[in-house]
Amino acid sequence: MYPRLTIDLKKLKNNLEGVARITKEQGRCSLMIVTKGVCADREVVKLICRHPAVDFVADSRIQNLETYAERARKAGKQTVLLRLPMACEIDKVIRFADISFNSELETLKLLNEEAASQRVKHKVVLMIDLGDLREGIFFKAEEAIYNTVSQVLSMDHLQLYGIAVNLTCYGAIIPKHDNLSRLCQWAENIEKTFSIELQMVSGGNSSSIYLIEKGELPGRINNLRLGEAFLLGNDTAYGTKLSGTTDDALLLEAQIIELKEKPSIPIGESGVDAFGKKPVYEDRGKIKRAIIAIGQQDTDITSMNPLDSKVDILGASSDHMILDVTKSDESYSIGDVVKFKVGYGAMLKGATSNYVEKVYK
Ligand SMILES: *Cc1c(COP(=O)(O)O)cnc(C)c1O
Repeated sequence: MYPRLTIDLKKLKNNLEGVARITKEQGRCSLMIVTKGVCADREVVKLICRHPAVDFVADSRIQNLETYAERARKAGKQTVLLRLPMACEIDKVIRFADISFNSELETLKLLNEEAASQRVKHKVVLMIDLGDLREGIFFKAEEAIYNTVSQVLSMDHLQLYGIAVNLTCYGAIIPKHDNLSRLCQWAENIEKTFSIELQMVSGGNSSSIYLIEKGELPGRINNLRLGEAFLLGNDTAYGTKLSGTTDDALLLEAQIIELKEKPSIPIGESGVDAFGKKPVYEDRGKIKRAIIAIGQQDTDITSMNPLDSKVDILGASSDHMILDVTKSDESYSIGDVVKFKVGYGAMLKGATSNYVEKVYK
């Protein structure tokens, strides 16, 4: 059935080994693989859990961890919840995450109480915000950091496992030796002040891996959390390709349901499109237009590339995507399938949509 996402497990394994070489051998960091980009796909999770290079398996949604916590633990991997826990999911966090990322004392207290009642010790990593301005205690808020650490240390059922930063998500700030050194400085301050050892100093996501290749990752960083680098082979700081990886392990495929010659500019008074936007149309004259059966509900049209480089994406509504196939060397017919490489957004929505079938190679 179409539309479908084909997942080449051999290529993904190869990507995993590529990022593991960089992260573990060159960077001497532990490897946390993030599963949210493929909605914790079962086969991809199996591959990750089976692989000896993986130390931690992580997701931002507790529902995803719930599906594979048992498998991961049996394979000797720790499970990690990346998004700060909601108050309504604390029991599941304690049950399915070995480690959770946190920045709020109120939440930490709830986790401590729940861990007590489930009779377990739960590991927490404190998020420090180095300026990207998404989650974390602001790095200049010294009192808040010391106070949070001291309170966590007094909670019997929590273990302060480490500290972490997230960059290049909201603020699009690029990790550098400079800003990551502030995280390392905080690790030292905390260790000295409280005479403890932090096991994890996690230096970010797929936008940090380029620092290893440049030899600029500060030495105290001992963990990276990689989703996109593994799945698509991307360094997301500068968009370069990581050595030993490919960008076509995942392909999105959709079927042509209409093929007609029509003008390229809509006719009549122009209002707004299906999503309330006022679109701009380029006059390409009379063109050969193909409609494929996939839409905004299933993918992100701004982050997909046709394998046939002579096909252009013109736009999409919820369920229809319109392509200009005029210049293609292929002679497309109704029922033919058009394949796309995916970027992060197209992969995420494709993996999440119930209407997109997953097929494995
Ligand atoms: C999503 C996420 C990651 C992984 O990001 P990629 O860019 O896919 O590597 C890492 N850390 C946190 C906190 C995240 O939310």
